[in-house]
Amino acid sequence: MTIFLFLQDYVSPGQSALAAFAVFAIVVTIAEHKWPYRDRFQYKKQDYIWDSIILFINRVVIAPVALAVSTGFVIPQLSLVFGDRLLTGFWPTEASLWLQYPLLIAVVTFIPYWIHRALHEIDFLWRIHHLHHLPSKLTWAKATWGHPFDFLLIYPAMTVVPLALGAPTDIVQNTAFSLSLITLLNHANIPAQSTMINLIFAGFHEHECHHRLDISSGNKNYGTSFLGWDHLFGTFEKPSGEPVAVGVPEGLEDQSRFFPKIMKSLKLQK
Ligand SMILES: [Zn+2]
Ligand SMILES: [Zn+2]
Repeated sequence: MTIFLFLQDYVSPGQSALAAFAVFAIVVTIAEHKWPYRDRFQYKKQDYIWDSIILFINRVVIAPVALAVSTGFVIPQLSLVFGDRLLTGFWPTEASLWLQYPLLIAVVTFIPYWIHRALHEIDFLWRIHHLHHLPSKLTWAKATWGHPFDFLLIYPAMTVVPLALGAPTDIVQNTAFSLSLITLLNHANIPAQSTMINLIFAGFHEHECHHRLDISSGNKNYGTSFLGWDHLFGTFEKPSGEPVAVGVPEGLEDQSRFFPKIMKSLKLQK
């Protein structure tokens, strides 16, 4: 977030977000090579190819579309139905940012928590979301794996409610962007774990539990960044830190099966 705020003084928010993302990607990829946390998650040649293709689709194409849908369509529609009060009347814009940011973290992550939970616990939605869980290794780029529908759903879900409540667009964007960096970071195969911080924000161990191969016991830690809702609704799992097998039973050794699986999921059949 510091890099993001610093860059914001010199370039547009979109450019600074892109620059911060690029810096993050380079630094973390180097760290994953130099200090891999789990040896079996180290990169193979095909990871670079498929990670790049999927990252381009979901982060470069789908994410801006999803954000444009939420700010350009959903919010105006809400304001048509509920009037201007919906967009200005509820958010404590005069309060200290020390209050606004924690409040935003809670609001931004509330609907995504329930969507992610539904994506796991409702059978036909799992057929879409399981594409995020296909890889049998975790690296930061694997966070971008997933069905485009998954990303179309999650991005507006993060921003529509706070914007509709009248939270300032810039701090909503800062918060959503910072939380998405936490999501990338907790997929990264690097030794970055904190007992205290990761009680509130998911780290590698917390998210590794979520990717557990045995999905019936892996339906935990739905917060991909903030874990407060998991604590409140009983889905938090404190990780042991021991390595666990990740992926889904049908796995993804041949990553070229990703796109056939997307086509199959669109038919919504087993
Ligand atoms: Zn999941
Ligand atoms: Zn994940």
